[in-house]
Amino acid sequence: MSKILVIGAGGVSSVAVHKMAMNKTIFGDIHLASRTKRKCDAIATSVKERTGTEVATYEIDAEEVPALTKLIEQIRPALVVNLALPYQDLPIMDACLAAGVSYLDTANYEPKDEAKFEYHWQWAYHDRFKQAGLMALLGSGFDPGVTSVFTMWLKKHKLKTIRQLDILDCNGGDHGQAFATNFNPEINIREVTAPARHWENGQFIETPAMAHKVEFDFEAVGPKNMYMMYHEELESLAKFIPELERARFWMTFGDEYIKHLTVLQNVGMTSIAPVRYQGQEIIPLQFLAAVLPKPETLGETTKGNTNIGVIATGEALDGSGEKTYYIKNICSHEAAYEETGNQAVSYTTGVPAMIGSAMMVTGKWSGDGVFNMEEMDPDPFMEMLNSDGLPWTVEELDGPVGF
Ligand code: NDP
Repeated sequence: MSKILVIGAGGVSSVAVHKMAMNKTIFGDIHLASRTKRKCDAIATSVKERTGTEVATYEIDAEEVPALTKLIEQIRPALVVNLALPYQDLPIMDACLAAGVSYLDTANYEPKDEAKFEYHWQWAYHDRFKQAGLMALLGSGFDPGVTSVFTMWLKKHKLKTIRQLDILDCNGGDHGQAFATNFNPEINIREVTAPARHWENGQFIETPAMAHKVEFDFEAVGPKNMYMMYHEELESLAKFIPELERARFWMTFGDEYIKHLTVLQNVGMTSIAPVRYQGQEIIPLQFLAAVLPKPETLGETTKGNTNIGVIATGEALDGSGEKTYYIKNICSHEAAYEETGNQAVSYTTGVPAMIGSAMMVTGKWSGDGVFNMEEMDPDPFMEMLNSDGLPWTVEELDGPVGF
């Protein structure tokens, strides 16, 4: 039984903490700290009601490294699970190094003043974690996270090489709002409005945001328009699968979402350049995030399913020629809400954060240094996806994707 410190108290954290409390034999002692203690207390109350488990709560600004180091030293957890925002990744890694504790997150570092998420800032910590005999696991959510584990499972059990890879993320479901994002609005809009990038023949090709649209019929959702965009696991997949000829990431958006986003972009509301307003400096995107519905309030009204998966084409392991496989999970918003009080987008991220933490504290995944999901054995993680709420299926397709 391990002691865990989770940082951040949004939708993803809420799911991860509930699921940790449901795995008492692995997570014996759960501590939760965030900028707003009230939100930690609300999660702790729900966890107590649903599972009977007590969660200790604290207030912390994770960007204050000395204060965070002190808190980690006081609690002495086996692992710090960062479910705050990507901006806090580096300060939390610094505090983990100072306190001598391992680290896990679900999204790679992004500087506040530049909408650019890349792994190099965190990969640069490898030697320091290695010398300290500590492990940092990056990107243990769904995408990134499960998408990389799905790909490596195909590479271990079905395909000797992977030539083409498409990640298909369908956030199906309806939350009943004219415009809302299903995870942190600031991070979500920064991601969606950034130029698209995909991997092709050894390099990233950049194209304008939302310029490539394809209709795809998603099981348990139906036909949806999906748009090619950049997503961080493309960087680690390209690094750890050197034979990849092409890798792309697709996400579905409804016409209403696109219409609202286009207007907001056209009037400058998605900008991260500071503007002066009534004698004060404000960031338009942060102001927009403040007035949009909070993702954690969407749980009760969101209906339908998410469907996220990977289609990979390559040379079959058994020597039977080129094969294409589609591996995916379908998750119901209503079932996720029933179980944890959060919708499926938080659920599909919080459950893999719990599983990655379980892999580390049980020693099924180990190492000294900074690691991506692609470097770990996919099998024990895939087993826990099946047993802990995100069952997956794999099927052989007739041939490579036609788009
Ligand atoms: P939320 O915005 O709902 O929650 C973020 C939490 O972090 C809030 O409780 C917030 O506090 C807290 N926080 C922010 N700044 C600080 C700080 N300086 N110190 C301490 N706490 C802080 O986000 P989500 O739960 O939707 O997402 C959490 C993470 O998961 C994000 O990094 C997101 O990018 C990632 N994610 C990953 C996905 C994947 O599949 N890999 C998918 C979806 C999300 P406060 O309440 O005071 O604002």
